[in-house]
Amino acid sequence: MELIRAVRTAVGDFGNVVFPAYCHSCNRIADEGRWAPLLCGECSDSFPHCDQVVAVPRPLDGGHALSRFEGPAKDLIVSLKYKGLLRAGGAIGARMAIAPEARLWLQRSELIVPMPLHWRRRWSRGHNQAMTLARGMVKHGVWGRARPVLARVRATRPQVGLGRRFRMANVSGAFAVKKRAVARVQGARVLLVDDVVTTGATAAAAAVALKKAGAREVRLYAAAWARPPGS
Ligand SMILES: [Zn+2]
Repeated sequence: MELIRAVRTAVGDFGNVVFPAYCHSCNRIADEGRWAPLLCGECSDSFPHCDQVVAVPRPLDGGHALSRFEGPAKDLIVSLKYKGLLRAGGAIGARMAIAPEARLWLQRSELIVPMPLHWRRRWSRGHNQAMTLARGMVKHGVWGRARPVLARVRATRPQVGLGRRFRMANVSGAFAVKKRAVARVQGARVLLVDDVVTTGATAAAAAVALKKAGAREVRLYAAAWARPPGS
């Protein structure tokens, strides 16, 4: 099964003609449903859409998530992030672009900014999942372009398992706006894009850098919201 999936991923859509597509959540054949060929019909139906506002710390001006980080949504995001399933990023980005609750924000945003990875992590992973999501959004009707204006200037330990206060300290000063992008950020309404939001501490640290460079507004739009530890 793994081999078939690896070959199919390698040959892309053409592969669907030769090999059936398997659900990335439950391994059944994924030939029907809203998320086919990534998920089967049943997993498509149980996709944990929430399309809702999430609480995030200042200086972020708001937070929004397409889904909850569980079930088939979690499986797709994990496949995107750690197994390089870029098609999942494109498909999730497309859904983020047309989510009804997010429409007002999307119309207001002038600059779509993916959350950056530190170059070492970007290099070892081979892609930035937030950039894949942002590109999927732009390809499906979000106005503007996805611009990687932020740099991660300090490597940080993963936020997983840290409480809110430690998360803030862990990422403080971790981001900066690239020198050549400052003019683009000045006065702009920015939409930060990330895969998963938990407390929003990482995105808030990015917002500090964007506002220092003159951004008028910074909102976070995540593919999924994960319940913070201890809540
Ligand atoms: Zn399934």
